[in-house]
Amino acid sequence: MLKLRNIETHYGNIQALKNIDMDVQEGEIITLIGANGAGKSTTLMTLCGVVPPTSGKIEFQGQDITGMPPEQIAALGISQVPEGRRIFPYLTVMENLDMGTFLRKDKTQIQKDLDHVFELFPILAERRNQQGGTLSGGEQQMLAISRAIMSKPKLLLLDEPSLGLAPIIVKQIFDIIKKINSEDQTTIFLVEQNANLALKVADRGYVMETGAITMTDSGSELLANEDVKKAYLGM
Ligand code: ATP
Repeated sequence: MLKLRNIETHYGNIQALKNIDMDVQEGEIITLIGANGAGKSTTLMTLCGVVPPTSGKIEFQGQDITGMPPEQIAALGISQVPEGRRIFPYLTVMENLDMGTFLRKDKTQIQKDLDHVFELFPILAERRNQQGGTLSGGEQQMLAISRAIMSKPKLLLLDEPSLGLAPIIVKQIFDIIKKINSEDQTTIFLVEQNANLALKVADRGYVMETGAITMTDSGSELLANEDVKKAYLGM
């Protein structure tokens, strides 16, 4: 579904990504783990067009999307839930969800998808008229994921969904991520610092260090790998 080949990305003179090769198959959950500043968010920004690569090639469903503007990439079915959620704080829950649908042409299906989102996150239904900024951190994360789901993505990019949340909320959110993958057939690209959790839900994982991929394997193999255990699982 998605292919990254020899991707290099720079911020001015700083090289953030070095020769990245990655593949995502339709229907998978893949995770990208790594320390602070490794280049995980840059990878997501690069593949959704916000920070275009300086060299290399990105293909989505057989189409070359390298250097395409973000709105065109979004229209092809790639949706991102950015780090720190970035909901619209002064808009209500409903208005935030509406924002997710602005590129859609199948308007009749939208009500069904809204019902589906409210089934996944009943708390959002209860709070539909509340301003986004007044929600708790966990509820804001649920809203950010729901807004992305409302765009009906084929590929959902999640940047650190566990960041700053209590373990019980994180568990709830990860259960929903699995559900979105298995029931809605949405392919998931998950960036996480919580490697333990991420590798448990992921079919496959990539490990990133200082802008380069240093390891790739199934989630379970990486969980059992001694180097991964030492560096990322605190064992
Ligand atoms: P974190 O988990 O802390 O978000 P990360 O793995 O997502 O880290 P990135 O945010 O992608 O890492 O950062 C990769 C490198 O690029 C870092 O050295 C960072 O300082 C640098 N960087 C990121 N954004 C910018 C920017 N806008 N301008 C200049 N350098 C940047």
